[in-house]
Amino acid sequence: MGGSINTDLLLLFIDITKAKAFKHIPQKNMASNNFPSQSHLLVIIIFITTLLTPITTNNTSPQPWNILSNDNFAGKLTSASSSVEAASIDFGHVTKILPSAVLNPSSVQDIIDLIKLSFDSQSSFPIAARGHGHSFRGQAAAKDGVVVNMRSMVNEDRGIKVSRTGLYADVDTAWLWIEVLNKTLELGLTPVSWTDYLYLTVGGTLSNGGISGQTSRYGPQISNVLELDIITGKGEIATCSNDMNSDLFYAALGGLGQFGIITRARIKLELAPKRAKWLRFLYTDFSEFTRDQERLISEADGLHFLEGSVMLDHGPPDNWRSTYYPPSDHLRIVSMIKRHRVIYCLEVVKYYDEFSQHSVNEEMEELSESLNFVRGFVYEKDVTYIDFLNRVRTGELNLKSKGQWDVPHPWLNLFVPKSQISRFDYGVFKGIILRNNITTGPLLVYPMKRIMWNDQMSTAIPEEDVFYAVGFLRSAEFDNWEAYDKENMEVLMFCEDAKMDVIQYLPYHASQEGWVRHFGPRWNTFVERKYKYDPKMILSPGQNIFQ
Ligand code: FAD
Repeated sequence: MGGSINTDLLLLFIDITKAKAFKHIPQKNMASNNFPSQSHLLVIIIFITTLLTPITTNNTSPQPWNILSNDNFAGKLTSASSSVEAASIDFGHVTKILPSAVLNPSSVQDIIDLIKLSFDSQSSFPIAARGHGHSFRGQAAAKDGVVVNMRSMVNEDRGIKVSRTGLYADVDTAWLWIEVLNKTLELGLTPVSWTDYLYLTVGGTLSNGGISGQTSRYGPQISNVLELDIITGKGEIATCSNDMNSDLFYAALGGLGQFGIITRARIKLELAPKRAKWLRFLYTDFSEFTRDQERLISEADGLHFLEGSVMLDHGPPDNWRSTYYPPSDHLRIVSMIKRHRVIYCLEVVKYYDEFSQHSVNEEMEELSESLNFVRGFVYEKDVTYIDFLNRVRTGELNLKSKGQWDVPHPWLNLFVPKSQISRFDYGVFKGIILRNNITTGPLLVYPMKRIMWNDQMSTAIPEEDVFYAVGFLRSAEFDNWEAYDKENMEVLMFCEDAKMDVIQYLPYHASQEGWVRHFGPRWNTFVERKYKYDPKMILSPGQNIFQ
C-alpha cells in the first residue's frame, strides 16, 4: 500500500511539474490538485525518486503526445509536422506557436471528448479552437497543446438550418460568413450585421465582436445572436441564450474563446435586399467629417452602412480607398492630399429592392446635399447586395496573386471614445503617423453607438454613448514588421499618456496588468466566469490572458 501511495504521489508530482510548464495554469488551479497539502519533505523525496526513475510519465497522463493513440481520436488527432506547422501561424505572420497536435473533429462529441480528457486529468493540456486562423498574434494557438481545427467540421449537407418563420439560422460555428450568406440568400434571407471581410468563421468573430459599417445601425454580430451551444472548459455542453444559462451566453459573446468552444449559433435574419447604392465623400476637415458621421448614425431609419477612412500623403493614391475614384480624379485627389497631408473619406450605403428602387436615388441625393464634404469628387456605385458585402474579396485575390497576402500584418484596432477622437486625429493621424511616414494599408475610422452593445457581453468597450472604431490594417514585410509594431506601441502609449480611455479591439496584451486595464470594471466578472466555466484554464491560451 505504501508503494502505491508513493507511485500516486510521484505521478502527482510529475504532473504538477509538467503543469508548471504550461504557464497559463495559475497557482489557484494547482490548489485543486492538492499540491499544497503535500509536505515539502515528501516532495523532496519524490523529487529524488523522480530523478532516479526518469521517463516513466509518457504513458501515465493524457498529454497531447500520448493521446495520439487514443481510439476515440483515431484518424482525427495528428502530430504530423505539416498539420502542427500550419496551426502554428496565423494571418498576422508575426508569431509561430507550435501545438503538440491538431484535432480534426468530425463531430461535436470529438471536441467534448478532447476537453473532457484534458479536464479530467491531473495535468490538463491547453486546447484552442482555430476558426480560419485570421488572428494577428497567435490568439488561436495552443503552445504544446491541441489546436482544434474547427473547419474540419464543415459539411455541406448539414451545418445550417434556416427558419423562415422564426427569421433565424442555426449555424455550425465553423462556417465562414460568406458560406452563411450564400446559404441564406438562397432563401431570400440574410444576417444583418457583418464584418468587412467574410472569410472568417462565425465562431471566430463571435469570440471578438464582429464589427463593420453595419454596426451603427444593427449592433455588432454578437448583438445579433439568439442562442449558442457551448462546450465549456469542463467538457460539458450547454445551450444558452438570454433566457437560458444567460451568464454563459453573454460570457462567450466577445469572450475571446475563454469560456467554451461555441459549436452552434442561432443568428438573426432579415429579408435580403437586392442591391446597394454606395457613395463616398471626401473631407479635408476632421470635425466636419466626424460631425457628419455622428449625425448620420443618429438617424433612426437612415443608412444601412457607414464607415470612414483616412488618406495620407504617401505618394500615389494607392492607399486603398482613393483608388475607387475614377482615374480622372486621381491627380486632383493626390494634390488635395498633398496640400492637407491628411484627408478623410466617408463611405455610406443604402440597400434597396424592387419596392424601394424608385426612392433610393432621391434619398441619397438629399443625403449628399445635407453633408459638408468637399464638392467635385464623385464616387457612386450601384452593386448587388452580395457584391457589396463581399467587396474585400477582390482585393484579397489581387494581393494573393502578387504574393502580398501571406505577409506580416501588425494590425492595431482601437475603440476611441467620441470625446477623444479629435485629440486622436491631431496626435495620431496628423502626429505619429505622418511623422513616422511608414503606414500602409487601410486606415479606418467610424463611429458606433454603445446602446447597440449589451453590457453583459464580454467585449470591452468605452463608457461613452458614441465611440469610434479605428483600424490600422497594415501590411508589412518579414524584415520590417517590427517598425510597425513599434508605431503601434507609440500610438498606445500616446493614448495612455493622454488618458484617452482607448480600448483595443481584437486585443493583444503582453501582461496580465494589460488585461486588467483592458477590461477595467469588467475584469472581476471576466475572471469569475473563467473560474466557473474553465477552471483549469484549458481554453484559448493564445489570448495570453491567464498565465
Ligand atoms: P481564429 O483566428 O481562428 O480565432 C480567433 C479566436 O477565437 C481564438 O482565440 C480562437 O481560439 C477563438 N475561437 C475560434 N473559433 C471559436 C469557437 N467556435 N468557439 C470559441 N472560440 C473560438 N473583425 C471585425 O470585427 N470586423 C472586420 O471587418 C474584420 N475584418 C477582418 C479582415 C481580415 C482580412 C482579417 C484577417 C481579420 C478581420 N477581422 C475583422 C478580425 C477577425 O474578426 C478576427 O481575427 C477573428 O477572430 C477571425 O476569425 P477566425 O475564424 O479566423 O478566428
